Amino acid sequence: MRIKILGSAAGGGFPQWNCACPNCRRFRDGKFHGSARTQTQIAIEANPEYAHRRYWTLINASPDLRSQILATKELRPFPDGNTSTSIREVYIPSADVDSLMGLLHLREFQGFRVLSTPAVRRIVAEENSIFRVLGRAAPPVEWISLEPVATVDTAKHHNPEGPPLLFSRAVPLGGEYPDYVSGRLRAALPADEAVIGLLFDHCGKRLFVAPTLPNRNTGWKEWAASSDVVLLDGTFWSDTELIHTGRSNKTAREIGHLPLSGPGGLLEQFPKSSKARKILLHMNNTNPILDEDSAEHRAVLEAGFEIAYDGMELHL
Ligand SMILES: [Zn+2]
Repeated sequence: MRIKILGSAAGGGFPQWNCACPNCRRFRDGKFHGSARTQTQIAIEANPEYAHRRYWTLINASPDLRSQILATKELRPFPDGNTSTSIREVYIPSADVDSLMGLLHLREFQGFRVLSTPAVRRIVAEENSIFRVLGRAAPPVEWISLEPVATVDTAKHHNPEGPPLLFSRAVPLGGEYPDYVSGRLRAALPADEAVIGLLFDHCGKRLFVAPTLPNRNTGWKEWAASSDVVLLDGTFWSDTELIHTGRSNKTAREIGHLPLSGPGGLLEQFPKSSKARKILLHMNNTNPILDEDSAEHRAVLEAGFEIAYDGMELHL
């Protein structure tokens, strides 16, 4: 399995267009030791070559997806035919704008598959009619339901003639639905379909992905601990980061992100017995770990975590 991190920041990216927090300000002034980042986007290539073509799976559909695809040579259209793409499917882990918006970049009369929980599909279908543009392709974009904890054999969807190689599982993480969802629909949706982690098994190797980790349901720990690579929520260093930087009056936990530091934070909670390669992504622009000279950056590395950057590539 090849894993490419096309974007590694939280919503807004880094720097964020309207933010003058110390990180964003120092970055614009050329006084910041660290990289700019686009919004979180992952691509994996795990299926066998089929008809001399290699197909990719996207995890998330970021608002930066168009430029992320253009910057990635593996995602270029196949040279034969007028319209073609190596992107066969897109996993959508939540209905957050930052997970969903990129689907609109894929709207150019292109068929592909979208995998999400039934609840996320209902939010799109019932309350966000702009996404109907995806139905104009022939064949239209196909939605496949991921029931939390059920196993979906995506290879079977990919290539009916080939051996099933990529298995995925939706792990409920216990988050909430975005506030743009109407109260009427929200009341009808099950809690465990709001935010999911994704577990991929491929040829005996396991990848666990959770760019948003509310941690209200801790079942993710056993899946993450048994994985070879984990890509986990690195949005906030501290629970009060948005309050201290003047960006919000809510804590990290209140908006659905387990902070990295402090009592019960991710660095403390991640199972110590795990042999997984641990990589943080989805960093908010306020997060001090983005500053490579900071004590927080060092603390994360000393705790055995890596910090994802745009263009990072892993082989598993
Ligand atoms: Zn900022």
